Amino acid sequence: MSIYESSKCTSCMACYNACTRNCIKMNYNSSNSLEPCINENVCAHCDLCLRLCPENSPIEREKSLEAYACWNLDDLERTSSSSGGIASIFYSHFIKNKIGTAYGCSYDENLQLKFSKADTLEELPKFKTSKYTQSYVGDIFQEVLYDLRKDKFVVFVGTPCQVAGLKKFLRKDFDKLLTIDLICHGIVSQKYLDDYISELKLPQKPNKLTFRGEYNYYFNLYKDDKIIFSEKSEDNLFFKAFLDGLFYRENCYTCPYASIQRVR
Ligand SMILES: Cc1cc2nc3c(=O)[nH]c(=O)nc-3n(C[C@H](O)[C@H](O)[C@H](O)COP(=O)(O)OP(=O)(O)OC[C@H]3O[C@@H](n4cnc5c(N)ncnc54)[C@H](O)[C@@H]3O)c2cc1C
Repeated sequence: MSIYESSKCTSCMACYNACTRNCIKMNYNSSNSLEPCINENVCAHCDLCLRLCPENSPIEREKSLEAYACWNLDDLERTSSSSGGIASIFYSHFIKNKIGTAYGCSYDENLQLKFSKADTLEELPKFKTSKYTQSYVGDIFQEVLYDLRKDKFVVFVGTPCQVAGLKKFLRKDFDKLLTIDLICHGIVSQKYLDDYISELKLPQKPNKLTFRGEYNYYFNLYKDDKIIFSEKSEDNLFFKAFLDGLFYRENCYTCPYASIQRVR
């Protein structure tokens, strides 16, 4: 049984995090996108997953009252980020003052993009730069809730659909939660990246990938910080397909969040 029609599911994983019986698994569907699947044998039919799905009951969104244009004044911080390096300013404010935790996503050594948490300034660089595949939420919403219940400040940066999923999962407002939703024009399944890298048949297995940052708009693969594959965005098949919007998740093409109305 699925929770919502495949073409609308964003894979925000609010349902997965909310299920107290642990009966939701994430599987790849026929269009290679991750989607939740309920194990009927364990399910208690409480319908919590259906009620918390932001696509079943859309979250409140509103137009921002004010907008500011800004960038990070620290040259190194800015040039090692994708745009103005603002994400790292928010993160480091709370960590420096020892009042909170930071949540974002990074590639692990197998180039799997996942959400994780950082408590120290040393851990923050892992979150830097835009990664153009879908980040796996896992049980990170439960960790956010745990921190909020401990009265910590939490900064969570993600795509608007992930922020909507977090807000639905939490079910109430927390004064100490700061969410930042990226301007996002669509996201690509992790599976396409895995297949693409495997097709490159590189002599060494890469353990780092960048799209932006120091080498801006380059698809760069590294082995232990040494570049082993590098192509400009316009020459790279994966990057070009991403920028041209050829292989996003199905739901991205009708994204309700791509609007001036942002998740509250
Ligand atoms: C999939 C995607 C599509 C984008 N589309 C647009 C666009 O159409 N127009 C535009 O102006 N800008 C777009 N951006 C850029 C985005 O808005 C910038 O990342 C943002 O401006 C932050 O830049 P920064 O320099 O402050 O921080 P950076 O250090 O560059 O940003 C890092 C932050 O982004 C988060 N992040 C990176 N990749 C992902 C991901 N795949 N999923 C969830 N969170 C992620 C990190 O966890 C971290 O918190 C896109 C980014 C992504 C990831």
